[in-house]
Amino acid sequence: MLKRLAKKLFGGGPSVQRPEGFFLNVRCKACGEEFNLFINKSTELAQNFDEQGTVTYSLNKEIIGGGCRNWIYVKMEFDGAKNLVSREIKNGEFIED
Ligand SMILES: [Zn+2]
Repeated sequence: MLKRLAKKLFGGGPSVQRPEGFFLNVRCKACGEEFNLFINKSTELAQNFDEQGTVTYSLNKEIIGGGCRNWIYVKMEFDGAKNLVSREIKNGEFIED
């Protein structure tokens, strides 16, 4: 009976592995164009060490759309567990869900 249960739990179809990440939704201040970028937390975050040797992560993103020549700069800071701590944006705004 246990065997059958295990098969049921683990024997399913191909396992879908979704990369850990989030969507960065921003709007261009100049023309209103919207961007929905998927940020992969395991490949796109830069690792930083502070004076105490604590690990933090950061993301710097430059976005330019087809609508105009405005560059949007996004800067995000994450803690050691890759939770968002702070974020800044220039020439654009964050779109809240
Ligand atoms: Zn624009």
